[in-house]
Amino acid sequence: MAAVCLAALWGWAADAPAGEGPDRFEFRETHMGSEFKLVVYCNDEALASRAARAAFDRVAGLDATLSDYKVDSELMRLSDRAGGPPVAVSDDLFEVLRRSRELSERTGGAFDVTINPVVKLWRRARRDGTLPPRDRLDEALSRVGWEKLVLDPGARTVRLTLEGMRLDVGGIAKGYASDAALAEVRRLGITRALVAGAGDVVAGDPPPGRDGWTVGIAPLDPARRPGRFLSLSNAAVSTSGDAERYVEIDGVRYSHIVDPRSGLGLTGRSSVTVVAPDGTTSDGLATALSVLGPDRGLALAEEAEGVEALIVSAAGDGDGDRTTVRATGGFGAMLGEGPGASEPGTVPTLGGPEP
Ligand code: ADP
Ligand code: MG
Repeated sequence: MAAVCLAALWGWAADAPAGEGPDRFEFRETHMGSEFKLVVYCNDEALASRAARAAFDRVAGLDATLSDYKVDSELMRLSDRAGGPPVAVSDDLFEVLRRSRELSERTGGAFDVTINPVVKLWRRARRDGTLPPRDRLDEALSRVGWEKLVLDPGARTVRLTLEGMRLDVGGIAKGYASDAALAEVRRLGITRALVAGAGDVVAGDPPPGRDGWTVGIAPLDPARRPGRFLSLSNAAVSTSGDAERYVEIDGVRYSHIVDPRSGLGLTGRSSVTVVAPDGTTSDGLATALSVLGPDRGLALAEEAEGVEALIVSAAGDGDGDRTTVRATGGFGAMLGEGPGASEPGTVPTLGGPEP
């Protein structure tokens, strides 16, 4: 049985009191198979709308560049040329691949954007409800390896050294797009803004009179309301976990996040929340830490500058199962109050359907 669930992060933000200070504007559009939300505070409605248009257009442009669903995206056309000579690419594609490769090095390959051949088999498994055969997984794995992704910053070219390699930036693209969207809003002079692309949230300056944007961390059970709240400004937070997308086969839940060593979807239920200076980092690290698990994952987060992480893991698969919660030393200091009755301006669930 294939099952699909939604939403990892919830968020709230307070309205400015009526008649004082800037107004709050909220916009939503669906891109990259997820609902992107933008909240801004400013004095000028027309400017807010213009900022939203610029932000969403930027995300749409990145979708056209980075999609591994659209056959004519720049990423797909690059994959089509695997095994051939270096290919000149756009600044955005180069930057996403550069950041991805850096993350592969830091995580010992737990994060790997060359994982697409394996991910494709698991997408089919989600549709059919049957496990990918081991020989197919091994064949796909033979075409995976971040070391075979060769970047030349001077020439801004990319070479996939092995024929049959294919890229998938699904573990980092929404964070990158959220960063880019916030940059558009800031470019138009609005500083108090928040962009949320499903489980990836990037915050600018806080709402008026507040220390930060309140962002709720969803519990393992996506039907429940958040129990922990972050106070976030000029930083990003991402959640990765099997609450969003998984397939259950013979009683085992396989996540859409794959361990590149085994080619298997992760089976230990977990929800990983990472706070980082930007959304590209938080998104990529949340995926990577899911693969690494609490011991290695939290050690890596402790070392990284401006990064804190929280990992909630469950032993079983049902409601009420025992969960363990582990976090980096500084995570507790990032937690804030939940949305109180004094906060009427609720930003609803951050989440959206998969493509
Ligand atoms: P979501 O897209 O649900 O927010 P993630 O950011 O964790 O979740 O990204 C998961 C996606 O990343 C998968 O759907 C797949 O496209 C890709 N992926 C899966 N495993 C890995 C991995 N080990 N390294 C990099 N990307 C991965
Ligand atoms: Mg991710």
